[in-house]
Amino acid sequence: MIPFVDLKAQYLSIKEEIDRAVLDTLASTQFVLGKEVVAFEELFAAYTQSQYALGVNSGTSALHLALLACGVGPGDEVITTPHTFIATVSAIDYTGARPVFVDIDPVTFTVNPALIEAAITPRTKAIIPVHLYGQPADMDPIMAIARKHNLVVIEDAAQAHGAEYKGRRVGSIGDAGCFSFYPGKNLGAYGEGGAVTTNNPEIARTVRMLRDWGAERRYHHDLKGFNYRMEGVQGAILRVKMAYIEHWTELRRAAAARYDAMLAPLGIQTPVALPDRRHVYHIYAIRDRQRDALQTYLHDHGVSTGIHYPIPVHLQKAFADLGYRVGDFPQAELAAAEVLSLPMFPELTVDQQQVVAEALQGWMQQVAAGC
Ligand SMILES: *Cc1c(COP(=O)(O)O)cnc(C)c1O
Repeated sequence: MIPFVDLKAQYLSIKEEIDRAVLDTLASTQFVLGKEVVAFEELFAAYTQSQYALGVNSGTSALHLALLACGVGPGDEVITTPHTFIATVSAIDYTGARPVFVDIDPVTFTVNPALIEAAITPRTKAIIPVHLYGQPADMDPIMAIARKHNLVVIEDAAQAHGAEYKGRRVGSIGDAGCFSFYPGKNLGAYGEGGAVTTNNPEIARTVRMLRDWGAERRYHHDLKGFNYRMEGVQGAILRVKMAYIEHWTELRRAAAARYDAMLAPLGIQTPVALPDRRHVYHIYAIRDRQRDALQTYLHDHGVSTGIHYPIPVHLQKAFADLGYRVGDFPQAELAAAEVLSLPMFPELTVDQQQVVAEALQGWMQQVAAGC
């Protein structure tokens, strides 16, 4: 079976360095925050072309704190996309603000800027574009709309470490950027992790306080904060991995280029990477009108796949209270029905990709034969 992701292959490739970093951190007893987290934050700020990076305990916490630090709260509305992982929307909900959805551009799967202004009301406070699958959202028009209406922009870059929009790294374009280091993400911890990036010293200061109980000085709680601190061991692991992230990203991009070359001639609808963006292929999503049958076919032919995501957030039961209905966001609903994520990870081999391509060829032949 070709795995969908292979976390073991990557661990084995850097095992000695990782094991030493973990053991050194245990010996230091800096279990929460500490010097390894600070060292990682410095590397990650530079990597994202940001002034500040603050390590937290998940991408969801990063989004929650970025929203709070930007002043989002009860009575506010936050515009985002329904074609995302639920965490984007849950983080808005945690603040007491109301999530407001805008449909996606079907080519990039990211929020369609042409539809944003119609969703703005006097209560709108922020926009969260999601750089889904590793391709940046169309940030120039989003930033222009935000400036015009005095809104903050928080980038959900949980799937887009190192992605670029017109030469600029994601996480540095909006008022804040939010990253996840969940193990399967492009930069993965060996546990939970996340970060907020920003060029705004006030946002950085507030996030730094909020992640650690709202205190700058121990037991002096100026804000109502949270226990959202990054663990020392995760900081140490991520610090080691920073030396490899560019290499791994280039391996993903090379694997994606090979898929493109193998699959497009078969008539498969492959992902479109726009020329002004650096797509980092967290997910390599193809589209097929018979997606569910294709997934079963690939499984039966030794290929593991994923679906990101089968139900758009506006149709999730958890958010039924928002009052959205089937048909509200046709492009997001169609994407949810058609997308299929092929195996994608830096260590994916040409031979493995050949197996995937052969299986897809078999599928296309079966479809053409009308069975
Ligand atoms: C993974 C992810 C998150 C949440 O990150 P966690 O670290 O799992 O909390 C948020 N948004 C998107 C788009 C994600 O893919």
